[in-house]
Amino acid sequence: MPLVNTMRGPVDTSEIGFTLMHEHVIIRSWGVYENWPHLWDPDAEVDRAAKLLNQAKAAGVDTMLDLTTVDLGRDIPRLKQIADKVDINIIVATGVWMAPPSYIRRQSVDALADMFVHDIEEGIAGTGVRAGAIKVATEPEMDGVNETILRAAAKAHRRTGVPISTHTFVRNKTGSQQLDVFESEGVDLSRVVVGHSGDTTDTAYLESLIRRGSYIGMDRFGIDRLLPTAERVATIAALCRMGHAGKMVLSHDASCYFDAIPHALRAANTPDWNYFHIHKNVIPALMAAGVSQAEIDAMTRENPRRIFETQGSY
Ligand SMILES: [Zn+2]
Repeated sequence: MPLVNTMRGPVDTSEIGFTLMHEHVIIRSWGVYENWPHLWDPDAEVDRAAKLLNQAKAAGVDTMLDLTTVDLGRDIPRLKQIADKVDINIIVATGVWMAPPSYIRRQSVDALADMFVHDIEEGIAGTGVRAGAIKVATEPEMDGVNETILRAAAKAHRRTGVPISTHTFVRNKTGSQQLDVFESEGVDLSRVVVGHSGDTTDTAYLESLIRRGSYIGMDRFGIDRLLPTAERVATIAALCRMGHAGKMVLSHDASCYFDAIPHALRAANTPDWNYFHIHKNVIPALMAAGVSQAEIDAMTRENPRRIFETQGSY
């Protein structure tokens, strides 16, 4: 049976269950706490994160894809402390977000691809934890460095078979630009999740991504500032009526710790931006909008399984 790498080692893809496809556990400014360690309390944050993840598991989440990259403060040894305390599968990623450090900015496509493949085949930073996805980001628009990163992700994907998951900026339709680059690298676009697609109600744009074979990530539930939950739900319901439940995955892009926004401010401004919103509010709203249980299962169980179980280099 196909296996997917998680923080706890390989897991049979048929056992990943209800899967949130774009989340984070801890996002922090890389380098800051190494230089000013008194600015946070890592033990308290580890305990807090473990508690939230256990609550997510109790709410019905079996697996979570943590798309935290180097430039979002990826810290696999710290994440390991959390993963050891929880009963949820955490799949981690290699790749780069939209703030690549200068070392990465000057690398060639092949050198970057080697770095990504190292995370997938050898493991991350000596932890033995292997990446199960490749993350890239294009916002506000693609530039030369970004294109190099996208080509490197495409090459690492084709060498390993590990899926690509992206961050896009819907206002500039950067998902289409990413697919153009991947296509020119010979990527099977059904191995790509075009993320943050749920930030728009433009079903023509979303259908154009699906028609090219890709999955779309309806993955920022709870960030109502970008698009309110009701509009995200209506867009998914419309796409389901168009027959596309087999091409969408759901998530919140939430986290336990995000140093751009203090805990109290986030709780006040975005009360639904957490791992529970989909189970608590979104699924009932989708069903009220006519989405069937089978379509919910496709978006939360079958599509994630299919994304991870197609494997091997090509
Ligand atoms: Zn994210």
